[in-house]
Amino acid sequence: MAAKLNHLAKMELNKKNMLDAGRICDRFPRVSGIVIHMTYYQRRPGSVFMERTVNFYPSGYAYFNMRCMAKGCENGGFDLSPVIKGLVGDGKRTGKGFLSCHGAEEGHASVSYRISISYFQGGRSAHNSARPGRRQAARQPVPR
Ligand SMILES: [Zn+2]
Repeated sequence: MAAKLNHLAKMELNKKNMLDAGRICDRFPRVSGIVIHMTYYQRRPGSVFMERTVNFYPSGYAYFNMRCMAKGCENGGFDLSPVIKGLVGDGKRTGKGFLSCHGAEEGHASVSYRISISYFQGGRSAHNSARPGRRQAARQPVPR
């Protein structure tokens, strides 16, 4: 069926989007880590489906489109990319909010999220902070 093809196309698109999004260390060089805590709700308000915490590191992709956990949900998901872009742009460390799945069937799933962002100190980028440490003086064996 067409829906199946659309789903495959969407998967390909997701992979492309992920690569297009680039690495966190390139997109947000000041960010040293992002933690997203999500509580999933399905259908009935107040019924918690599951909770999930996801950690992002500078070497990871700057792609924050979270999968919808609802069975049979096509093309759904929760895109936190604009939220995170906004928070980093403002230099904020925390943010929270609520999103509904943008899948075809309306109102079947939603998440409330809390985001924590940590930054490198002193405005150094991820690249700069990765400089090699001072070389340890190798202890030479004493010749006898
Ligand atoms: Zn969904």
